[in-house]
Amino acid sequence: MVRPVAAHPVVELRDLTRTFPGPVDALRGVNLSVESGDYVSIIGPSGSGKSTLLHILGLLDRPTSGEYLLDGHPTGKASEGDRAALRGGRIGFVFQSFHLLPQRTVLDNVLLATLYSGVPRAEREERARAALDRVHLGHRLSFTPATMSGGERQRVAVARAVVASPKLLLADEPTGNLDTKNSAGIMDLFDELHADGLTLVVITHDAAVSARAGRRVRITDGDLQEVS
Ligand code: ADP
Ligand code: MG
Repeated sequence: MVRPVAAHPVVELRDLTRTFPGPVDALRGVNLSVESGDYVSIIGPSGSGKSTLLHILGLLDRPTSGEYLLDGHPTGKASEGDRAALRGGRIGFVFQSFHLLPQRTVLDNVLLATLYSGVPRAEREERARAALDRVHLGHRLSFTPATMSGGERQRVAVARAVVASPKLLLADEPTGNLDTKNSAGIMDLFDELHADGLTLVVITHDAAVSARAGRRVRITDGDLQEVS
């Protein structure tokens, strides 16, 4: 299949740095272009700048210098409100520690992600059910995360991340709390989402997870290097 050439990358980082007080140079002038439909893994050891990079990609943090274009939109000078609007519906997040509400049902956890979307409740519920079907948890709607395995919890978190039909999924160590079998299950799920057209950036320190991606980028001490 020939994919149409996108007008602009989903993500474009230009000579981007992030310095923390210390000073710590967490990112040292990185360049990265992620095209629509790419599946990119970013692998590197602890402290190499992975989470810093992901927070900037998700508009949760701002770079010290350089530019980040999301979907062609410059983000550097944008107000917090404009950044939230840029993020909303465009980016889904998956974290290592799930960040679910353990005592609310699976359906509620996914529904809450679209609470302020302006979409009517019935439509939101339909989308939440569809998202849970996509992660093969359509039969667990009334369960609570507190009673589920780590692998199932992460599936709920993936459903929540895709319920608003984002263009870009950002995952920070999504298998960090899972055993080998459950890790493989989440990776299978990411393969399925990728096949459906989602653009993925997955941060990991696990070579088995990185191997699943179409593009591998290594991060060492705040520097990016394309591996394949
Ligand atoms: P990784 O996710 O690869 O383990 P991080 O991006 O969390 O790495 O951190 C990269 C570097 O930046 C580390 O040296 C870390 O200590 C430092 N760092 C990250 N966040 C902060 C912060 N909020 N304040 C100060 N230093 C930070
Ligand atoms: Mg990290």
